[in-house]
Formats: sequence, C-alpha cells, structure tokens
Amino acid sequence: MAVLDVLPYPNPFLRKRAGDVEDFDDRLRQIVADMEETMADEDGIGLAATQVGIDLRLLILSRYAFEGEAGKDKPNLVMINPEIVWESDETVVGEEGCLSFPGVFIQVERPQKVRIRARDADGETYEIEGEGLGARAILHEIDHLEGVVMIDHVSHLTRKRALKKHQRNQKALQARAREDARKSR
Ligand SMILES: [Zn+2]
Repeated sequence: MAVLDVLPYPNPFLRKRAGDVEDFDDRLRQIVADMEETMADEDGIGLAATQVGIDLRLLILSRYAFEGEAGKDKPNLVMINPEIVWESDETVVGEEGCLSFPGVFIQVERPQKVRIRARDADGETYEIEGEGLGARAILHEIDHLEGVVMIDHVSHLTRKRALKKHQRNQKALQARAREDARKSR
C-alpha cells in the first residue's frame, strides 16, 4: 500500500470529468487500498480518485460522515460509478473543507438528504441514503468526479476570499517544505 499525493487546487486534474470504472479487478482494489491509506494519512472523511490523479469514477467515504464517532473504526464506504437517484428539495448550509484546499473552510448549501446508487469494489450494486453531513460528503465527492470543487457553489466574494486564503496556505506549505529540505541536507 502507498500514500498518494493529494493534488492541490488548481491542478488541472481537479477540473476533469472522470471516466467510468469498467474492470473490477485487482488493480482497482489496489487503488482503493492506496486511497484509503491516503485518506487516513490526511485525516479526511472523503477522497475522490481525481484528487490523487486517477481518472476513474471512484470515491471513498469514512463511515464517520454517516454515523459520527460510532463509524470511525468501520470499513470505509467505496462508491464506484455513483449516481444520484434522488435528492431532497430541502437544503442546509454547513461548513465544508477539502483535502485539495487544506486549511480552507467555507459555508456551502447542499440538499439535506440524498439517495445514491453505486457499485462496491467487487462490482455489486447497492443503494444508500445520506443525511446532513453524510449527504454533504457524498455530494462533495461526486462533484469531484465531475470536475466541480466546493468554491463553485458559493458567491463570487466568498470564492475570492477562499482562494486568497488557499494561496496563502499553499505558499506557507511550500516554504515549510523548502525549510525541511534545507535542514535534511
Ligand atoms: Zn474535496
């Protein structure tokens, strides 16, 4: 297993519409395992394949998003070729973050409830409902498979502020990485 690099915005891969998964084979299961290790390493609750530069309609979600603390130690949910079957008219505004915008949090309006049809890593079709954080996490990750990111959902002003903060954070991360490289020489 390997921890993969999570691509920061504005990497062009984050604007790509991912292709369908067609082969449910060992290679796919290896990608899922690597993504799970990457998400754990980054302490995230969701990760889409496009965020690690893989052109497949595949995402993983921590059960924490659905069950809170009780879900933390349960196996992740694997969603392959997911489709939104239904979403509620009722929406809710809540805080959202993204591993491609580390340290940036914005308020995003999303449906309160969704129903999704997807396949698991063995190719079995299943349906699942998400509510609140669960719905938010699913929709955020499905967006990634369409090349959509969270700042696309907010006003021009909020987007500008979020991007400014993101650029500042990225500069600080790069400076820290340079410093670490200098020290290790
Ligand atoms: Zn994200």
